[in-house]
Amino acid sequence: MSSAVPAVQSAVPALADLADLVGDGDVLVLSGAGLSTDSGIPDYRGASGSLRRHTPMTWQTFRRDPRGRHRYWARSFVGWRQMRDARPNAGHRAVADLQAAGLLSGVITQNVDGLHQAAGARAVVELHGGLDRTICLECGDVASRADLDARLRAANPDFGPRADEVNPDGDAELPDEVLDGFVMVDCLACGGGPLKPDVVFFGETVPRDRVDHCFRLLEDSGCLLVLGSSLTVMSGYRFVLRAAELGIPVGVVNLGETRGDAKVDVKVDAPLGEVLPELVTRLT
Ligand SMILES: [Zn+2]
Repeated sequence: MSSAVPAVQSAVPALADLADLVGDGDVLVLSGAGLSTDSGIPDYRGASGSLRRHTPMTWQTFRRDPRGRHRYWARSFVGWRQMRDARPNAGHRAVADLQAAGLLSGVITQNVDGLHQAAGARAVVELHGGLDRTICLECGDVASRADLDARLRAANPDFGPRADEVNPDGDAELPDEVLDGFVMVDCLACGGGPLKPDVVFFGETVPRDRVDHCFRLLEDSGCLLVLGSSLTVMSGYRFVLRAAELGIPVGVVNLGETRGDAKVDVKVDAPLGEVLPELVTRLT
């Protein structure tokens, strides 16, 4: 019945402990980029914790630098098809299965790709927002990213990289002079802007009410299960710290080391796409 592979088998003692922890129920899931890499979405921090070629946009640059913001939207326009076409993987489906089995008290994700919801998970708290919508920094209007994409395509019929300019990640390295030729559109509600993807950029603060909601979920949970996050950024790591303060056990499934390893009760260092379906098999 199980399709355990060598990577999972080598982690079996920890996996048995993890199954015990999760089997008790009231599990709060906190997921990160490592859960979505099997869906083709690059993990910008990777296993080593170092940033890859592209430094993600910071809130400071987006807010203060109109040219940087313009180039962000040009790159985002090019990369949007890949994000839109990404599909949930076995790890996302396993989380939805654990929830359907009544074992979860909540799902918090640091990912902005919507793939938990696409896999069927409910009441997902998007800690860092979601790329499927935009917000106007002038009037606060929230709008659909798909609608924006249609408007941008109409305004930029010929904009985009040649096939040989797209790297294996689906990412394109476009020269600045090409990016500057991109045509951005205004907010439909107020005619102004600027528009921002409804996500929390590096250097930006997660809204306080969202954080408080997550802390309440944690306080009502029997354990915290971190999936695919190296816990590099404090916005996620603080939940591990709070769980430790509250005496709530913490489990981690991540390929590679995490910042929280010294504070966790169970650590499974193996691919999520193998560990999580195995966990579902054991518990449902
Ligand atoms: Zn507006």
